[in-house]
Amino acid sequence: MASTAAKSLPAIDYVSIVRSVYKDRRGMLIGAISAGTTAAAAGFSANSRIIFVHAAALIVIGMLRFFDARQFEAAAIADDDAEGASEWEFRATITGCLAGLVYGSWCFSSLIFANDPFAVLASIALSVAALVGVCTRNFGLDRLVTLQIVFVGVPLGAGLFIAGGIYHAILALMIITLMISFRKLAGDVRAILLAAVHGREQASNLAQQLDTALDTMQHGLCMLDGAGVIRVANDRALLAFQSFAPGEWLDQPLSALIAAADEVGFLPRTAAERLIDMVTEQGSGKVLLSLPDAVHFEVTVSSRGDRTVLLFEDISERMRAEERINFMARYDALTGLPNRAYFTDMVATELEDRRNFARGDHAAVMIIDIDDFKHVNDTMGHLVGDKLLAETSVRLRQSLPTRALLARLGGDEFIVYLAGCDTAEALLAHAGTILTAFVTPFNIGGEQLVTNISVGVVEATNLADDLDALMVKADLALYQAKGNGKGQVELFQDAMDTDYRYRQKLKTELRLALETGGLTLNYQPIVDIVTRRVVGCEALARWHHPQLGSIPPSLFIPIAEETGMISEITRWVLQTATAQCMTWPGDISVAVNISARDFRSGNIAEMVDSALKRSGLPPQRLEVEVTETAVIEERDAASKILNALAEQGISIALDDFGTGYSSLSYLQALPFSKLKIDRSFVADLGSPRALKLIANVARLGKDINLIVTAEGVETEAQLEMIATYTKVDQIQGYLFGVPLPARDIAELISRMATPGSPAQKVRHG
Ligand code: C2E
Ligand code: CA
Ligand code: CA
Repeated sequence: MASTAAKSLPAIDYVSIVRSVYKDRRGMLIGAISAGTTAAAAGFSANSRIIFVHAAALIVIGMLRFFDARQFEAAAIADDDAEGASEWEFRATITGCLAGLVYGSWCFSSLIFANDPFAVLASIALSVAALVGVCTRNFGLDRLVTLQIVFVGVPLGAGLFIAGGIYHAILALMIITLMISFRKLAGDVRAILLAAVHGREQASNLAQQLDTALDTMQHGLCMLDGAGVIRVANDRALLAFQSFAPGEWLDQPLSALIAAADEVGFLPRTAAERLIDMVTEQGSGKVLLSLPDAVHFEVTVSSRGDRTVLLFEDISERMRAEERINFMARYDALTGLPNRAYFTDMVATELEDRRNFARGDHAAVMIIDIDDFKHVNDTMGHLVGDKLLAETSVRLRQSLPTRALLARLGGDEFIVYLAGCDTAEALLAHAGTILTAFVTPFNIGGEQLVTNISVGVVEATNLADDLDALMVKADLALYQAKGNGKGQVELFQDAMDTDYRYRQKLKTELRLALETGGLTLNYQPIVDIVTRRVVGCEALARWHHPQLGSIPPSLFIPIAEETGMISEITRWVLQTATAQCMTWPGDISVAVNISARDFRSGNIAEMVDSALKRSGLPPQRLEVEVTETAVIEERDAASKILNALAEQGISIALDDFGTGYSSLSYLQALPFSKLKIDRSFVADLGSPRALKLIANVARLGKDINLIVTAEGVETEAQLEMIATYTKVDQIQGYLFGVPLPARDIAELISRMATPGSPAQKVRHG
């Protein structure tokens, strides 16, 4: 049966208490021998055989316990072997009880049988002394102490009582009281021991938990004592310290270490000083420590009492993410240039400065646009387009002075802010350098790519202009550069602004015209080159403005395209033209121009359907004219829509052939039924080259079953040459008729239906 000590103590403590019982085996043997010798002396003194027997028993038991203790030592039980210790406790209890019994019985025998004062004195004195030893040595083993006290005390008390006399009785009571107090004393010592053991156990549990917490926490932690010395630090904290001051940190004053790291430049000075202040003042707060190699720690300092705790959080990853987000918000991912927003921010402040300090030096804004970028994107794919943009940004950067601020506005547009140019000439020279940078073709994915740019430049001499105003002006200049044939630099002039304002005015007026019937349609005859009869008419929009007079379509059609009004115009043209065509005899057709913007925003199929339905015109008598540019700009939409129209029997004409890319791939891919050779070729007919060109284009058209029309035929001579040397089928031009109002075209058609009638009659401006 396990003792209370075995149950209430941790194994390690229990084992060590059992060990202590066995420890002083020599002292115990000497005690036993001296007790035995004293008993022997008492035996002589009292001449009592029974006392001799006790003397022998004391020595025998002493030796028994001595050998038991030696065996215990030889057994060498493990520090935590509670079970083994329990067995040895039991053996110690048996031998201890035996010893106690012999002492008790010695006292009893001396009192009852010896009748010798020395024998009585010797037995009682040595028994009480033995009990003192018991209490001091065996206090940890509650059961053993109790049994030994009982085994000594009961016979001793009984002996005294039996010996008789009031004094013996008093002595007996006193001795019993003494023994009870021994027992209690041993109990108290034991309780103190247990409390200490439990306290230590609790403390070690707590320390273990704290250790686990410190080791597993995500942040570095260190605790300073009242003097600012680092007393506790987890591994993460130590690791963090190593990154700015390698060496020993534990038990060192933190401030001194920080100051040393600051000294060698590992820490940003202000942060280091703040941290030292916070620690010395035992305050609280946060400090950001930015170390080399983009390592950042957020240090949280908090103090309580005289303790200060520092928490190190590695926020490098968070900072990197923030930096990335910041970068992404400010820079264009493709080219790495600042984006529009960031550019606007930077230049707005710069312009503000110029205004505030009334600096009149030449600064400028340039807007740069890649010519025909859309074509590259469509024909060569977005990957090539992206590469071209990236390479363009490199060439721009290299051809600009370092002080120039270059950004990507979006799409294929770039913007430059350039300060410190002395004259407009110097400015244009810079722009010229940019242009020359594009002379060398690009090499993208092994392919040579010739690309030009157009540049619009505005000088920022007028301090009242903000960035928006400058950008509008640079845009106007760019627009002009594009209009002048691309690949050019254009410096903003006030006249452009006037033009711009005029265009702005036209924008509002055009809407009004469309709503109030200010637009009309003229029709230009298209004549068969052999029969000289009108086979169709092209519908051409006219705008007569009450104050501004006649506004040419070359001006208002682009405006309509810009504003999106074009689809309403197209719808109106389709309705009007198809209705008009119904009034013409035979199978004369009507041609309607469709613009690029219509493919993007207008619902062409629906507009055509509704026009045909309302007018009752058979689809075979309707023709739509598209330019190459429109088809290129809206390749996918155009292909879908044109195929649908062709399936209904509507003719599709490729307008102005020869002015754009004249790419044969479009002829192949789209359902064209007609090719209209641009009038510039006819105008050039004086040169044999132009004639050859028309002849070859016409042959090519015929070879792929297209009807070929020559536009802009103004003279008999031109007609003669075309008729003789080319396979052109149809003629359109002032020779047979200018675009005429509906009324006049009907008359012309009927007149030309009579063979041999002079077409020249209707030839006027
Ligand atoms: P376009 O489609 O190439 O139309 C033919 C243009 O050539 C017309 O100019 C016509 O007047 C002109 N023209 C015809 N014969 C001769 C000639 O013998 N010599 C010369 N020098 N010119 C001749 P217009 O009417 O000024 O139209 C210009 C352009 O405006 C058109 O070119 C067309 O692209 C566009 N446009 C006109 N009306 C419309 C329309 O209703 N919708 C759309 N989307 N565009 C239109
Ligand atoms: Ca046309
Ligand atoms: Ca044309």
